[in-house]
Amino acid sequence: MSECVFGYNLRSEEVSHLEELFDRFPEVPKEVILKETLLVNGIKFTDKALEKGGEYQEKAYYLFTFDKDEPSIVRKRARVIPQEISVWGGPWGLRRTVIQGRHSERSPFLVDVEDERTVLRVGESRLADVSFAPKPQYYGSLLTSGLKVEEVAPAIYWGETVDVTVFRVCEYWGKEQCKFCDINENFKWWGDLRSGLGTKVNPELVAEAVYIAFKSPNTKRYLITGGAMRNQLEESQFYLNYVRRTEELLAGRLPLRLNVQAVPTNILSKFYEAGVDYYHPNIEVWDSKLFSMICPGKDRVVGRDEWIRRTIDSVKLFGVGNVSPNFVAGVEAVNAEGLPRRFEKIDEALRSTAEGLDFLMSREVVPKFDTWAPEPGSILGRLGAKPPSVEYYVKLYLKYHEIRKRYGLPYPGGLGEGGPGVSKVPASGFMDM
Ligand code: SF4
Repeated sequence: MSECVFGYNLRSEEVSHLEELFDRFPEVPKEVILKETLLVNGIKFTDKALEKGGEYQEKAYYLFTFDKDEPSIVRKRARVIPQEISVWGGPWGLRRTVIQGRHSERSPFLVDVEDERTVLRVGESRLADVSFAPKPQYYGSLLTSGLKVEEVAPAIYWGETVDVTVFRVCEYWGKEQCKFCDINENFKWWGDLRSGLGTKVNPELVAEAVYIAFKSPNTKRYLITGGAMRNQLEESQFYLNYVRRTEELLAGRLPLRLNVQAVPTNILSKFYEAGVDYYHPNIEVWDSKLFSMICPGKDRVVGRDEWIRRTIDSVKLFGVGNVSPNFVAGVEAVNAEGLPRRFEKIDEALRSTAEGLDFLMSREVVPKFDTWAPEPGSILGRLGAKPPSVEYYVKLYLKYHEIRKRYGLPYPGGLGEGGPGVSKVPASGFMDM
């Protein structure tokens, strides 16, 4: 960036840091570095920017809050922040890049209005132009219950993916929840606003909502997700019911992604036959000690080795590229007071996840990521855990693609196209590379 940024002469520490990373990692698109910076730091939105936004897609109810602020802060806003923003242009000529809205009043990265334009700035430096995710065409349509369709089936990925949280709490809550997760707190804070839905959304409502969304021209796929149950048979029957009911209406015309715990192999074929196209048995973290510490419920009920075995087995059913367990990127480097430290050096954490990626990809499983930013309602958030540096994410995602290419694997299926200026995946930059 030149010293004179859109008429400003002041440079901030953040700009210098971004530029240092651009120089050190010329093979990484600048868009990825900025995106990871915003995901880790969150974004501060001015009231002026929200007012100017017009008819944008406001953030709806999802599995987690993904906000860096307490809900007491978020609730004070006169207007809900956008579900996603895209940034482009600016002094670095950025390609359009979609980024998840993570509310943070403390973030130095500000979405504001200057000269009648919505812009991203840090300090006095203007970094990019900004637009907010447009309101999907189906938003505002009413279900037979009288609820708006987006209360059940909001969109992500710039409107392309319909995201349905069918079970809005997790039975591991209390002693065994994953330590990065805020699902039950999210329901406590925000679920009451969605009166009438309860923790388990009526399958008829889900089918109706997805069917309405399916008719919107921008809708390309849908996702069924939710909390875990302690009894795996019960959990499988529960989620299968949603898949079957919805697919009765859709008849395979809209690809379906499913987020659940690793399903026992003898039951999984029922999901495939019912219409699931992309399967996400989210392992979250690779290292065995960390898995049992960070995901104690999953570890007790399924166990890490069994989780991995089931995941690998499922490729035979869904095909290469269509089994993509999620990793909470960066949680392997966790360093929080009150928790035993697993890795003394950050590179050891990176090596551990790279080992997991290699193991899974050598068996044709193609993992995916969400960049971790500890929410205040999660255990790690309450312990004051901090995500690793942006540099860590850059190295992790470089490693990911090195391994992916070595094994000749595609991008994970069901996430849309990958590449800079192309990907719509909001919560990680790994698909923008
Ligand atoms: S299994 Fe873990 S990540 Fe999933 S909802 Fe439960 S606590 Fe959260």
